[in-house]
Amino acid sequence: MAPSLTLPAMLLLLSWAAACAPSGAPSGSARSSAVAASREDGVHRFKLGRLDAAVINDGYLRMANDGKVWSDPAPAEIGRVLAAAGLPADATSLDVDVLLIRSGDRVVLIDTGLGAKAPTTGRLVPNLAKAGVAPAEVTDILISHGHADHVGGLVTAAGALAFPNAEVRMTAAEWAALRGSPPPGFVAAVGPQVVTFEPGAEILPGFTSVEVRGHTPGHTAVRIQSGGQSLLAIGDTAHHYVVSLREPEFTISFDADAPTAETSRRALLTRAANGRERIFAPHFPFPGLGSVRREGDGFAWVPR
Ligand SMILES: [Zn+2]
Repeated sequence: MAPSLTLPAMLLLLSWAAACAPSGAPSGSARSSAVAASREDGVHRFKLGRLDAAVINDGYLRMANDGKVWSDPAPAEIGRVLAAAGLPADATSLDVDVLLIRSGDRVVLIDTGLGAKAPTTGRLVPNLAKAGVAPAEVTDILISHGHADHVGGLVTAAGALAFPNAEVRMTAAEWAALRGSPPPGFVAAVGPQVVTFEPGAEILPGFTSVEVRGHTPGHTAVRIQSGGQSLLAIGDTAHHYVVSLREPEFTISFDADAPTAETSRRALLTRAANGRERIFAPHFPFPGLGSVRREGDGFAWVPR
């Protein structure tokens, strides 16, 4: 839970993003060609009650199964879970997706992807253009947490504000952690845009924070409600649609407080399975919309 853990996690993320991501097409992906083509489109529109919404793809990150990212149990055990699901055992691929919601006069994003810091990311702004949204039109950005693959897109490759007219909303604990850790240029650039809230607060009308402890000091999910419908954007409560659901106790090194993160993951997944609440998971296969059901001691992902 120490704020100082945020920076190493961010740097680790940036370094593996640069080192591990192939520059060409994803290799070893088990996606169907239909799903892969959908991600390449980059925009998945849907209705949430009365709201127009879309999932916008920023790219993807591929991580070798070498014990560094998935740190416990050993790679052979992680590989067995992947292979049992028909996936390559030597690596995991995480999509990086952003939620776009139009609510009245507001144009809201949930997270911003990694930006142009890896060869396989940085598609958010061009894909937003496909959805008819210019960066200057974005009014509010809700941040699940301060890791680079969620806040990196707030600034351009040149360090300028990517969404100059937006208020950037995150929990006070998360902003405190970010401010306490370089890169200082990033903090100085986005600081004037930041507005903080407390876990569990209504962030904007129809957008409520749901505290999910353990991943970072101020990590939050966001529940969006309209017209009797609900969607829970889970942030990094779960990273991989097979590993994190089948085996919620498996540890990913980005969880600052792994035991608390595991408890939070199981609790959220149990509630979601019992209530059949629709979920948006930014790292699940594009567009990352679906629900979970119980399967054995864990859970299974049901895209919908
Ligand atoms: Zn993430």
